Amino acid sequence: MKDFTYTALPARVTFGAGKLASVRDEVEAIGASRALVLCTAAQREQAEQVAELLGPSLAGIHDGAEMHVPIASARKARELASELNADCAVAIGGGSTIGLGKAIALESSIPILAIPTTYAGSEMTPVYGITEDGVKRTGKDVRVLPRAVIYDPDLTMSLPLEMSLVSGMNAIAHAAEGMYAKDGNPVMSLMAEEGIRALAQGMPLLVDAPQDKEARAQCLYGAWLCGTVLGHVGMALHHKLCHTLGGSFNLPHAETHTIVLPHALAYNSPAASEAMGRIASAIGAPDAAVGLHHMAVKLGLPTALRDLGVKEADLDRACEIALSNPYWNPRPIEAKPLRALLQRAWEGAEPQ
Ligand code: NAD
Repeated sequence: MKDFTYTALPARVTFGAGKLASVRDEVEAIGASRALVLCTAAQREQAEQVAELLGPSLAGIHDGAEMHVPIASARKARELASELNADCAVAIGGGSTIGLGKAIALESSIPILAIPTTYAGSEMTPVYGITEDGVKRTGKDVRVLPRAVIYDPDLTMSLPLEMSLVSGMNAIAHAAEGMYAKDGNPVMSLMAEEGIRALAQGMPLLVDAPQDKEARAQCLYGAWLCGTVLGHVGMALHHKLCHTLGGSFNLPHAETHTIVLPHALAYNSPAASEAMGRIASAIGAPDAAVGLHHMAVKLGLPTALRDLGVKEADLDRACEIALSNPYWNPRPIEAKPLRALLQRAWEGAEPQ
């Protein structure tokens, strides 16, 4: 066994169908009494439900959350929080809405109560991202880690099926890379394996019955575990590639993860055999990379970057950008195999 240092991040987690009803108690538990509720315009209805449950602990609702947290939207939300004298942010939504809460917390240090409605996992991490002049600046600061999280599977019922499934693959990606992380540890590997298993069992059930309560609970439980892994250990090739591709070609976040993951794992497979064995066992397949590719095909998910609008002529540039910013990876990142990986991901071919 390799040596490790494990620093656990603090977070209070409440999990269960109907747990949204405890939102006022959770606001009190983090020592707050004037909550600014954040959401996207599309999730206004869910935010109004939260507002009603908060009663006198409500400061206001702001439905301006947007993908990638543009700086203008962060400024607006910060000003509103200050004008309303809010002493906490309640973010109900996916990674974009929780990201807006983080942008407020980064400046004002008010605590966040996160109520995730996708499987992206931002609620369990101290990582923030703000986009200025087309560039997404990310950073790590424990002030943005939500102080409390309510996981209520009922709130995920309205997440459209395909979004649920690509979001689930996005969560699996956090856990998969966490298993071979440079700063990994046995506790995170246990969580990662269990998180992948829960999602791999829950997602196929959603295809036949998107409103299946038990399947929704399984998936959200998996998302919590995978998000915890993302918050605790460093990521590698897969996440960096998705960040590069997403930022440079404006690609959708969870779909990009879904397509790239099997290929990134195939690339790292020779240097991370124990992790690959555990991932394969969690998804019930002989091989982690090929198994995840087959899983995506079976679930009817996108498997080719060309279907997201990436041009074949862009692949050389994508490869150059990915190589221009060196980072740790279990297998050294080299131009030729990386370019081959991108080609296969572009075509939607089986990973090798
Ligand atoms: P998202 O938050 O952008 O949501 C996508 C859309 O789905 C939005 O319109 C949203 O309102 C809607 N939606 C969400 N939940 C819904 C539900 N239950 N019912 C109906 N509609 C719903 O998508 P995401 O994939 O959750 O988050 C992606 C963003 O989060 C990216 O910008 C990514 O970089 C960031 N992220 C950050 C971290 C981190 O640790 N900082 C982790 C993961 C993702």
